Amino acid sequence: LRVLVVGGGAREHALCDCLSQSERLSDLLCLPGNAGIAEVARCIDGVDVSDVSSITSVVKREQVDLVVIGPEAPLMAGLADTLRAERVAVFGPSAAAARLEGSKSFSKDFMHRHGIPTAAYRRFTDAVAAKQYVRQCTRFPVVIKADGLAAGKGVLIVADIEQADCAIDDMLVRQVFGSAGREIVIEEHLRGTEVSFFALVDGDCVVPLLPAQDHKAAFDGDRGPNTGGMGAYAPAPVVTADMADAIMRQVVRPTAAGMVREGTPFQGILYCGLMLTDRGDIRVLEYNVRFGDPECQALCVLLESDLLQVLHDAAVGRLDAWAARGGLAYHPGSALTVVLASRGYPGQYATGSRIDGLEQAAAAAPDVKIFHAGTGRGPDGAWIATGGRVLSVTARAPTLAEAQRRAYAAVHRIEWPEGFYRTDIGWRALAMEVK
Ligand code: ATP
Repeated sequence: LRVLVVGGGAREHALCDCLSQSERLSDLLCLPGNAGIAEVARCIDGVDVSDVSSITSVVKREQVDLVVIGPEAPLMAGLADTLRAERVAVFGPSAAAARLEGSKSFSKDFMHRHGIPTAAYRRFTDAVAAKQYVRQCTRFPVVIKADGLAAGKGVLIVADIEQADCAIDDMLVRQVFGSAGREIVIEEHLRGTEVSFFALVDGDCVVPLLPAQDHKAAFDGDRGPNTGGMGAYAPAPVVTADMADAIMRQVVRPTAAGMVREGTPFQGILYCGLMLTDRGDIRVLEYNVRFGDPECQALCVLLESDLLQVLHDAAVGRLDAWAARGGLAYHPGSALTVVLASRGYPGQYATGSRIDGLEQAAAAAPDVKIFHAGTGRGPDGAWIATGGRVLSVTARAPTLAEAQRRAYAAVHRIEWPEGFYRTDIGWRALAMEVK
């Protein structure tokens, strides 16, 4: 099969690496890819990931058999719809189904319609009405969310009425998130443990993947600003087998069935951001309609089943074969990924600094993989940093503690003074293991 992966982050590098191991692969392309991905796939530069018509032309020209869409933007732009209309097999949901991620108002109302557990909420387009509502709230903090995509910055947890007014004005009056903030959702603040639960979905058919946990805060101890994700691990021991069953029953199956009933069946990865509340309940914080980054990197190194076969089957209506088989096969043990980012990220950062030691890092311990997100090659061929999140150092091992040790052994061999990383990825699960 000729496969095109759309995207250019460490998530797509992990997907390409996994796909490249399939015997069914004849040619692997990635658009736009990056310098690390170029080692395993032919990269097609100069096309924006949301430019549906240009990507469609590439797909036809290259006679691609399967398109795997990594990021959310091309999904919302309708890339999967256009390619399906051209009779190309695609892994990824339609624009209508991608609204589960693209609009929080839509996803909250959808959960309400289908009895899927989530935080209590109200929607607003009018600042005066929103402020009146906040004055009736008896319990703070409350959570204020811009309706649309705001690169992870559109969610504010506000401690009092004053902060709430400010957030409401920013979104509805000053429109700091542009059209993404034209509508807002104000919701109840939940306490508990967050987990990422992924499932392959095709209509009513659902196949769960391993649960994972990520680390959104920039610095150790979950301090500092929120980022795209500074590290992750899988499986997350906090999700027991019973808990996974409950998540499938209360969240994943009703979501898939609800989308079918509403005439917008979902096909692709359904990523449920969940809060396992201190009271022992499961609540959906948000849906995403694609693999999480960096969770995907940990999942890919654990997967034993042929990813190409899995994604192709999901794309052509044969996911039920995997459901009948009881799901996908995994290597035993755990995987953990540490993200290296440019100093200053998620704020301003410089690019162009030189990175050395990647080969030594990959050889630092068994089963280590270095996935690239923002790298390029300097004039002398050396690796250079070109983005905020730059590398995902991922290790697999029989235990999570050993996966953590291997990942950091590799990280320590990377010579990049202009970069930083968290030193405590995996702390929650390791604390559970000690207990
Ligand atoms: P991302 O882009 O990081 O996936 P997002 O911007 O789409 O996230 P959410 O996932 O809805 O937004 O929220 C971001 C974070 O805010 C969550 O990971 C969680 O830590 C926190 N959060 C969101 N809703 C709630 C809530 N109701 N109670 C407590 N915390 C919440």
